[in-house]
Amino acid sequence: MQLNYIANASVPSSSGKTLPVIDPSDGQVFDHIQRSNAQDIDDAVRAARQCYETVWSRLSAAERGRLLMRLSVKVAEHAEELAALEQRDCGKPTKQAKADALALVRYFEFYAGAADKFHGDTIPYQEGYSVLTWREPHGVTGHVVPWNYPMQIFGRSVGGALAAGNVCVVKPAEDACLSLIRVAQLAAEVGFPAGAINIVTGYGHEVGDALARHPGIDHISFTGSPKVGTLIQQVAAERHCPVTLELGGKSPQIIFEDADLDAAVPVIINAIVQNAGQTCSAGSRVLIQESIYEALLARLGQAFEALRVGPASMDLDVGPLIRQTQQQRVWDFLSDAQVAGIQMVAQGRIVDQAPETGYYQAPTLLRDVPVDHRLAQEEVFGPVLAAMSFRDEDHAIELANATDFGLVAGVWTRDGGRQFRMAKRLRSGQVFINNYGAGGGVELPFGGVKSSGYGREKGFEALYGFTTLKTVAIRHG
Ligand code: NAD
Repeated sequence: MQLNYIANASVPSSSGKTLPVIDPSDGQVFDHIQRSNAQDIDDAVRAARQCYETVWSRLSAAERGRLLMRLSVKVAEHAEELAALEQRDCGKPTKQAKADALALVRYFEFYAGAADKFHGDTIPYQEGYSVLTWREPHGVTGHVVPWNYPMQIFGRSVGGALAAGNVCVVKPAEDACLSLIRVAQLAAEVGFPAGAINIVTGYGHEVGDALARHPGIDHISFTGSPKVGTLIQQVAAERHCPVTLELGGKSPQIIFEDADLDAAVPVIINAIVQNAGQTCSAGSRVLIQESIYEALLARLGQAFEALRVGPASMDLDVGPLIRQTQQQRVWDFLSDAQVAGIQMVAQGRIVDQAPETGYYQAPTLLRDVPVDHRLAQEEVFGPVLAAMSFRDEDHAIELANATDFGLVAGVWTRDGGRQFRMAKRLRSGQVFINNYGAGGGVELPFGGVKSSGYGREKGFEALYGFTTLKTVAIRHG
């Protein structure tokens, strides 16, 4: 049984209710979490406020950094344990779960180093004045985390918030809490004061909503679906609480005829099958120049057919989807594709060892997907790649920008001028040239435009979002 973690103590929810934790690899319940409520959020916010006022705000930036560095080392020591927790909870293949634990180490390391290097400015003003700006923490920040990358998203958002001088109340997704509860315990072990990191689990519409409404929350970092992002924004607007929104995507990978296809093919595949396609920045559309369309589709088709899907512990190319409703969602998209006459080029294979009760989906490559079809417009959040062809740069830009999203784009071309032109014209928070990544390393700012959200996390840039600016104008004697 997992408990909430508030003020460095494991506590049950005041509701007395729990929720089952299901292993996506076999659909079986293997643990329980607390089904918390508004009272638990209130307890966590009070603990956080107390910590902020009496301890955290009195630490120097260097001391905050030192604590984060200790946590980074501690997480590295427990990386296998954390990866195993997240593997079972989220159905991640071993390689992915380990990579996520190591990313968490890097986030804490990065923000440990950043804490005492972030500062305000001095501004030349009228004679007789000194004007300075201070970057001040918001105070108590709320973090609503999705289930697809709990450790990574905790690392980037809580790591940045703590470095900037805030204390945190975290609401993990109901499907994926285990690793984060453990990280909060490890933080207490390395000396984080009671109330600096609090974890309250439960349903979004209950405990997430209570977090967003709580008057003691000074800033909300939300990562999740556009639909819930809108709700959070509406609730936060009622009390003018600042929000960072990291939402979904329908990201294009654009392949020109002069691309290095040997390098591109494995990257195109990985961008859609990583974490079974349940990645905000999944490269879920592949736009291919018409002169190489058939040849590249054939190569991609062969690569799809070689993909193996199975239980997370088998560490194959693709693990299960998170839950049955997610599996059903992908099936619905695929049956819509069939009705629309969209052709399937190839599918991977679910291995025989995969239990029928697990939530598996074979990676699927579809061709000639019309730009206005929902498969080219909406997030499937599964391993489904929609291919379409384009004539030239203008046409590629038209197709790439023709969705409500703008999170990541990838462009493959050897032409230096085209690389810059494309990067400039793509409406997207990140552009990768001759590669594709989920925002790359922890150093790189990450976030979207349009319905992919606003504000940036990761990198040094995140510290601006986790602080507010105070201008101090001093008139001399
Ligand atoms: P979701 O929006 O359903 O849930 C996200 C979180 O919000 C969960 O913790 C959930 O419990 C909570 N929530 C749900 N309803 C709420 C409410 N009414 N009030 C407050 N909180 C509520 O998203 P999901 O299905 O967990 O995650 C998938 C989505 O997240 C996809 O759209 C994906 O693209 C997006 N995502 C974005 C990024 C990014 O960095 N841009 C990263 C990962 C995932």
